[in-house]
Amino acid sequence: MGGFFGIVSQNDCVNDLFYGTDYHSHLGTRRGGMAVAQPEGFKKSIHSIETAQFRSKFADDLAKFKGTMGIGVISDYEDQPLLIASHLGNYAIVTVGAVANLAELAARELKSRHGHFTEMNLNAINPTELVASLINQEESFAAGMRKAQELIEGSCSILILTAAGIYAARDRLGRTPVLIGRRPDATAVAIESSAFPNLGFQTTAYLGPGEIVFVSRDGYQTLMQPGERLQICSFLWIYYGYPASSYEGINVEQVRYRCGAALARADGVEVDMVSGIPDSGIAHAIGYAAEARIPYSRPFVKYTPTWPRSFMPQNQEMRDLIANMKLIPISDLIAGKRMLLCEDSIVRGTQLRDFVARLYAFGGAEVHMRVACPPLLYGCPYLNFSRSRSLMDLAARRAIIELEGHFPEKLEPFLDPSSPQYAAMTGKIQKRLGLTTLKYQTMPDMIKAIGLPREKLCTFCWTGSE
Ligand code: SF4
Repeated sequence: MGGFFGIVSQNDCVNDLFYGTDYHSHLGTRRGGMAVAQPEGFKKSIHSIETAQFRSKFADDLAKFKGTMGIGVISDYEDQPLLIASHLGNYAIVTVGAVANLAELAARELKSRHGHFTEMNLNAINPTELVASLINQEESFAAGMRKAQELIEGSCSILILTAAGIYAARDRLGRTPVLIGRRPDATAVAIESSAFPNLGFQTTAYLGPGEIVFVSRDGYQTLMQPGERLQICSFLWIYYGYPASSYEGINVEQVRYRCGAALARADGVEVDMVSGIPDSGIAHAIGYAAEARIPYSRPFVKYTPTWPRSFMPQNQEMRDLIANMKLIPISDLIAGKRMLLCEDSIVRGTQLRDFVARLYAFGGAEVHMRVACPPLLYGCPYLNFSRSRSLMDLAARRAIIELEGHFPEKLEPFLDPSSPQYAAMTGKIQKRLGLTTLKYQTMPDMIKAIGLPREKLCTFCWTGSE
């Protein structure tokens, strides 16, 4: 998915930009970048963050930057920020989202305007460069950003740094959050509100879907009004978002407590402890344990000092191995115990299967699993959220293929928790993972835990429909 942070300050902003961008590191694993508006022009830096985190890669750059306005990005795929010279003036740009019709829009650009793209990576066009090219066709930044939003299928939130200030746009249907923070000497724009408290900012506004604002030393003003239709990503609350963040005014950690509590209310299993698979299962487990009045325990702990989250080898086997090496079991807490584990979601299930086997190997008597969302059946077409997720690798799809002998055209029966097909599907997953019992959250309970009306939430990766 990726994340961005921008700041306009009355004082030098480089340190704030550095930490504000770093607080988005959990949203991407491949590239980090910063651009600052300096008196002599824009200066930028881009580094790979595949094997080391943002802070260690950019610490040496800080002395080279000086300025009161800047933007930073954590990117899952492409190099950003890009510096652009155009009829609108010089600017730096970063984007977050997924341009699903990239090839089509790029072909149109190349053909109709005899344009060109320079930020190629192998044969792939950099989506941020395409967005810049669409913006440059209009007579103002705001009109160009609106035009890009209208043409792009998928989603695209944008920050543009100019010599006068920062233009910020939330994607057309608001799948990603974009918010404004204020402190006496500065205004910031971010995806994650968790970037604000330690930098002294208070969240003052959540941009609406498609809203475009201009941030200057005087504060911010809306240039394009928000649209009516909101489709914010539900998965931000369940897994992807940071616990200290709030989207649409709803805090992530509290939603996870409510998810866990709902799982507990729908349950009656007798266990000795409740535990969360680190990190994002933990808050769901705390909610479950509090509601069920069962002790919360940590029968395994995560070894964090030398395993940063951003270290993500491309090879799946290596990723599975690392996932297991990170978690160290405490056999004294496992032996003879009936354990209930909470997990945010089950994607492939391979790492979970290995993990459950290890719990039995350390003497666990029973391993029950409760999942904070319904079974995942579709990939995300809107945020590049799961490009590495091969659709047929999804645990629920594999179970369906095993049951049916092929992948059926109609998946509706497998979405209905009261149907025999759903029970058979979850039974297969339970067996494959070696679990004593397995239960998923229902869609209504998940939506209730989030607290927004269903029609304002994207739930495509569970239902395959808008
Ligand atoms: S498809 Fe899933 S991950 Fe993608 S935006 Fe919708 S809810 Fe979020």
